Amino acid sequence: MKQTIFLFRHNRRKFLKDVSLAFGATAMGLPMASFASSCQSSGSDKENTQVEQTGQDNGQNRKLGIALVGLGNYATNQLAPALQETEHCYLAGIVTGTPSKAETWKRKYKIPEKNIYNYETYDQIADNPDIDIIYIVLPNGMHAEYTVRGARAKKHIISEKPMATSVADCQRMIEACKENKVKLSIGYRLHFEPHHQRVMELGQQQVYGPVQRIEAEDSFVIGGSPDRWRLDKELAGGGPLMDLGIYCVQGAIYTMGKTPVAVTAKFGEVTRPDFFDEVEQSINWQMEFADGAMANCTTSYNKNQNLLYGKAEKGWWRLQPSFGYSGIQGETSEGPMNLPNVNQQARQMDDFALCILDDREIPVPGEMGLRDVRILESIYEAARTGNRVEIKV
Ligand code: NAD
Repeated sequence: MKQTIFLFRHNRRKFLKDVSLAFGATAMGLPMASFASSCQSSGSDKENTQVEQTGQDNGQNRKLGIALVGLGNYATNQLAPALQETEHCYLAGIVTGTPSKAETWKRKYKIPEKNIYNYETYDQIADNPDIDIIYIVLPNGMHAEYTVRGARAKKHIISEKPMATSVADCQRMIEACKENKVKLSIGYRLHFEPHHQRVMELGQQQVYGPVQRIEAEDSFVIGGSPDRWRLDKELAGGGPLMDLGIYCVQGAIYTMGKTPVAVTAKFGEVTRPDFFDEVEQSINWQMEFADGAMANCTTSYNKNQNLLYGKAEKGWWRLQPSFGYSGIQGETSEGPMNLPNVNQQARQMDDFALCILDDREIPVPGEMGLRDVRILESIYEAARTGNRVEIKV
């Protein structure tokens, strides 16, 4: 046992060292990482003991078991493949309402029958020691219910972005995790991506002096059928702002290392009324920071664009494309960034597993998700009323 613990510790340290060597002083050490988690565990010894009893042992290390809830596009094409590369967690279980998907996943990922649930049997996950973490990858309007139920099952939770479709739901999720002494994180994968970590450093450490202006856009042309959940107000919470604009909000905030104090906003024209009868087709907004810096942001479901740009007193930087799973390119006023593209989701999930194993602060906690949903609500209010809306976070 002693040897196992030693190897576990050794591997963990090696991982952290590799990360910091590869990317310099990054997100973990910057102000954005200082979000205090409200979901403190009851103690690291207890949690490590639990992990040693329940996690997968590959002979060298303990891995935490993750169950993915909702086997749609993101779970299928990004998270499950990423879980084949993680060092500190693995795909232990699934929750799906589609029996044929359960069969396919069971065979493909060798998931034992006892770790496969549907939405009716979901709560029984409480009795399954193989599952340490529940990862909610359902439509936005379902994140709150499945997080609360998952927390009651005493499992740590990752909820996809946006955390929920209302501030009240975000608060419910945080509360449930606190009460049940489990940790809560949001699927903010870009905090673990080297180009974005560089932007945090450039902006927050004022490498080129104070930031004056940020430009951010995340847009794509939505296809498929008009009755998809992303266009349904109840399930999505809103249109591209909830889905994509959240990356612009995040990008501006982690460039600055602080939250904006006020927003103004304007909905764009609706040119496809068959698609956009419940949610916006596009929206432009401005975020004002206390020191006078401004972020001009756009998101649309009717064009393709992907940009995070920052201008400081003595230099600038640009990520373009900026928010994708791979292919991010960065340059500064001094030249190309020359940073690697990595498996963002693998890093994100490994970091959460280490937060649990080490009982340390989560860099992307529920409180950050709540803050962002509050800002999204303020942007909608500004667009609806035409007023400048102050943000109180
Ligand atoms: P998707 O439509 O591909 O998958 C949704 C899944 O939920 C499907 O398996 C579907 O069967 C299931 N589901 C259960 N109940 C449903 C209902 N009532 N209506 C519709 N579907 C229902 O969506 P997705 O693209 O995988 O997105 C899922 C979540 O992941 C969203 O919250 C989204 O914002 C988030 N996401 C995050 C990223 C990221 O980069 N972090 C990328 C894509 C999606």
